[in-house]
Amino acid sequence: MGAPERAGGELVVGESPHRVGEQFLLLAGRTVMSLGMSEPCAGSAATDLRTAARLHDGHCIVNGTKVFSTFSPDAAVFLIYCRFGPGTGGIGSVIVPRDAPGFRIGAPSRFMSGEQWCELHFDDCRIPHDHVLLGPGGFKKQIAGFNVERIGNSARALALGRYAFERAREHVLTRTQFGRPLCEFQGLQWKFADMALKLEGARLLLYRAAANADRGFPSAYETSLAKAACNLAGFEVANEAVQAMGAMGYSQETLVEYCMRRCRGWMIAGGSLEILRNRIAEEVFDRRFDQRGKRADAAE
Ligand SMILES: Cc1cc2nc3c(=O)[nH]c(=O)nc-3n(C[C@H](O)[C@H](O)[C@H](O)COP(=O)(O)OP(=O)(O)OC[C@H]3O[C@@H](n4cnc5c(N)ncnc54)[C@H](O)[C@@H]3O)c2cc1C
Repeated sequence: MGAPERAGGELVVGESPHRVGEQFLLLAGRTVMSLGMSEPCAGSAATDLRTAARLHDGHCIVNGTKVFSTFSPDAAVFLIYCRFGPGTGGIGSVIVPRDAPGFRIGAPSRFMSGEQWCELHFDDCRIPHDHVLLGPGGFKKQIAGFNVERIGNSARALALGRYAFERAREHVLTRTQFGRPLCEFQGLQWKFADMALKLEGARLLLYRAAANADRGFPSAYETSLAKAACNLAGFEVANEAVQAMGAMGYSQETLVEYCMRRCRGWMIAGGSLEILRNRIAEEVFDRRFDQRGKRADAAE
């Protein structure tokens, strides 16, 4: 994502939406939002989140810590998943402006892709009551919406894989070794055939999930297949593209190594490959597999 800017070109990076107008500028693409779902003790097990929200005197008071929120150094506004009560049914979400009292943003860290994230700390953070996006019971709705984000994630992975593929294809058509263009070596031809197979297969799964979306919400199963296929295709194709381009592929002169690094993160973010496979397996066996084993210290 490029740096957000105001219509006149003035940057609004890191600025609260209240200072730049009445309405959030998110939909206009002029400012950035960061998503706070993950916590130190709640990664794949997202419903273990502890960040708590309670309503008090016309306000909502938030306490807790979030990690890995991409774009948090630049975001003007934060979508924070939080707990209004016990269990999955107690989870909802709130919108926190950057300058909300009691909200502290830690020092930036960097992912392998170069994207930055910060720890987010909420210490009796006070936001207006109308900043509650979804109250208790909102989690299922929000996860249904999250499948739309997963479709976007899949499309990005596929696009980067496709870009790397095209750059590598051009390279092997023109680069000569042993007196022949590289594309004349069968070892490379088969690599490209496999890369095309991965990209085309993933693309069809992605289109199916998007085309079958019911009132805008793609199914969890088709989304899981699409995201797993696109994340794998994006990374594996970019990785092979680096190889096919030799040192030029590994060099930052081309964007191919960046495509590989960026796609790698999506195999973890937004539902890791393993969590997606868990969901796919539930469809295969037509039953739910509870991931929560009995705790060793649980009462008999
Ligand atoms: C590039 C990137 C961007 C991100 N952006 C954001 C963001 O903007 N906002 C946000 O809130 N979070 C973000 N995250 C965090 C992301 O959501 C978590 O990394 C993800 O949920 C996994 O949690 P974890 O890292 O704690 O790994 P863990 O949950 O500790 O898992 C570690 C490994 O165990 C596997 N595993 C866990 N449970 C199971 C199981 N039941 N079955 C099989 N395997 C399992 C996982 O798949 C993983 O491989 C981002 C992560 C990355 C890499």
